[in-house]
Amino acid sequence: MIIVGAGIVGAAIAYYLTRVGVRVTLLEAQAPAAGASGASDGAISVASKRPGPMMALACEARTLYGQWVDQGIMRDIYHPRPTYLFARTDEEVAVIAHQGSDLMELGERILPLTHAELMQRVPGLGRHVLAGMKVPDDGHALGYQVVDRLLQASGAQVLRNTPVLRLALSDDKVVGVVTSSGTLVADRVVVAAGLGSGSLSGFQAILIPRKGQLVVTDRASLTGAALRGPLLSAGYLAAKRRMVLGQSSTSLVIDPLATGQFLIGSSRETGFADRQTDVQTVSTLLREAMAVYPALARQRVIRTFAGIRIGTQDGLPIVGRHPTLPGLFIATGMEGDGICLAPVIGSAVADMVLDQTPRFDVSALNPGRFGAVSVRQAN
Ligand SMILES: Cc1cc2nc3c(=O)[nH]c(=O)nc-3n(C[C@H](O)[C@H](O)[C@H](O)COP(=O)(O)OP(=O)(O)OC[C@H]3O[C@@H](n4cnc5c(N)ncnc54)[C@H](O)[C@@H]3O)c2cc1C
Repeated sequence: MIIVGAGIVGAAIAYYLTRVGVRVTLLEAQAPAAGASGASDGAISVASKRPGPMMALACEARTLYGQWVDQGIMRDIYHPRPTYLFARTDEEVAVIAHQGSDLMELGERILPLTHAELMQRVPGLGRHVLAGMKVPDDGHALGYQVVDRLLQASGAQVLRNTPVLRLALSDDKVVGVVTSSGTLVADRVVVAAGLGSGSLSGFQAILIPRKGQLVVTDRASLTGAALRGPLLSAGYLAAKRRMVLGQSSTSLVIDPLATGQFLIGSSRETGFADRQTDVQTVSTLLREAMAVYPALARQRVIRTFAGIRIGTQDGLPIVGRHPTLPGLFIATGMEGDGICLAPVIGSAVADMVLDQTPRFDVSALNPGRFGAVSVRQAN
């Protein structure tokens, strides 16, 4: 059994397959977590999800993270914490109210907060913040740490610096993969290669790269996170809900890391797949972050970096059997939600590979919804 890509999605699939005795080889072009999983934030957040399948799956995923903590796999790297949604305009207040009712419908606890209540809970917040909402039961884990723990727990074989060049086909069936060091045979292949998934699986026209630039500050606290939870803008929710708001609404998140530092992000640059940061985007992020949380003026920037989210045309991931090639499975397109969703996607893909009904309902993510796609490559 071959998995292409040792990001968080490939690692989670490997974890679930090895647990039931399947021998798994992960082929990785560079090193584990070299892609988006190592260049992202780690919000395990139901509060931030688009309503519908994404919100429901995030809820299941967060429960699985809790179970992984109980089993010892994620001990000390998964941190439960609330998310604080905030609004700066009346339009944004309405977005948060909608998000709140969608979350409540799912059974999520929420606590609407007035400006005064927010100021009390998040000292140092700017006066432009009108109102907000606390969603108490979210969490955080850094993607590269999760990948490391999953790979250790799985014991799967990981071949680094081994890019898959194309699939090996026989009678229009996938029978393995071709790498620069030769062909590897397998009766089932899962493509979980993030940015590299499109060309391997024929989905390149459906996948959309969306660059995100992030800023890391020095420590605001020497004794753990400087705030109880991240400050997440209504603009971020609007982007997820595919709504266009007024100009002041940006997709800002101020995330207090367990190290006492802040992670501030992030841009959403559609069509960009390079990992450069630029002064203009970083200064815009900082300006907006300081308007929301002026206490940040005391911090210094120590690092900037960028990661590439892989989105899809309809905003839902692509997970399941390939629509035209027997033996091939695909799991990608998680955009800004893959760290959160990885446990459910890993579990569901493992079930599908084993011809079992997935424990979690990922039918909305079925690759077949885009119709037949053709994979153009030589045998
Ligand atoms: C700025 C930013 C912030 C984010 N914040 C969050 C967040 O707070 N919460 C959240 O849940 N998600 C977040 N995400 C999204 C999350 O990082 C991704 O959804 C997730 O990491 C995707 O994981 P993956 O395994 O599908 O892809 P990747 O991590 O990209 O892994 C794919 C792997 O495949 C390898 N590969 C590619 N092509 C080939 C090939 N041909 N052969 C072999 N190997 C190959 C790559 O080297 C890579 O290691 C964020 C992303 C960004 C960019």
